[in-house]
Amino acid sequence: MTADVTPVQLRWEHGCFLLRLMIAILSDIHANLVAMEAVLADAAKFPVTHYFCLGDIIGYGPDPVGCLDLVRELEMVCVHGNHEAWLRRLPMEEEFPAGREEMIQFPLQLAFDELSATQRNWLEKIPLQRTVQSMEFVHGSLFQPEEFYYIDCAEEAERHFSCQQSSVRFHGHTHVPGIWREEANTVGGYEMPETPFLLDLPGRYAINVGSVGQPRDADPRASYMLYDSTKSILHLRRVEYAISHAQKRFAEAGLPEFNSTRLKTGC
Ligand code: ZN
Repeated sequence: MTADVTPVQLRWEHGCFLLRLMIAILSDIHANLVAMEAVLADAAKFPVTHYFCLGDIIGYGPDPVGCLDLVRELEMVCVHGNHEAWLRRLPMEEEFPAGREEMIQFPLQLAFDELSATQRNWLEKIPLQRTVQSMEFVHGSLFQPEEFYYIDCAEEAERHFSCQQSSVRFHGHTHVPGIWREEANTVGGYEMPETPFLLDLPGRYAINVGSVGQPRDADPRASYMLYDSTKSILHLRRVEYAISHAQKRFAEAGLPEFNSTRLKTGC
């Protein structure tokens, strides 16, 4: 599947015109509008041509409508997350691990109640995966993407790479930024530096952009990624935001305390 991204920048280089895409990739916003606004303010400092959103716009947080409005306003190219999938199947307590029902189901119900039918339909129509300019986008693993497997070990990364068609693939889901690279007989998992990073193409990479609204790598700063597809340069951005202001919003919405306190620890 190819999304309808409009080429907006062409430049002459090496004897031909090259399409230049500087993309900003956000994932796992989780209805944290305060974090999302800080990320978009940071992205505005760069010549971003297109925005992508890798799922879980909703869930856990208090502002599903505000976050979805921004996603649509910026015409982000979106894929489906597991929280969007769960929204369609409420109520479904029996599928959550014991003790997690409230932290997941309560905010999903809040999203269901606050989003209009039109907005819920829009979320429902988001595809599970997309390919744009030879880059692939999905929420979790490309291995049975509807199952939303985490890529959190070499075995899962290998299963994922067996389904990856392109050199560069972006995902989220674990809320931990990082990079998997296919190597001679195995795959290697690496932390991402916060300085711009040149991909060694045509090697194959699966890149986790981290989470805007609920990072889980013990760093509470919001996470997203910039990628210059002409130069194959990745740039992980970590953005400080007003966590106490976000926590006030969680409290006002009556969300479970754990959803709010974890913002401060990034776990
Ligand atoms: Zn998520």
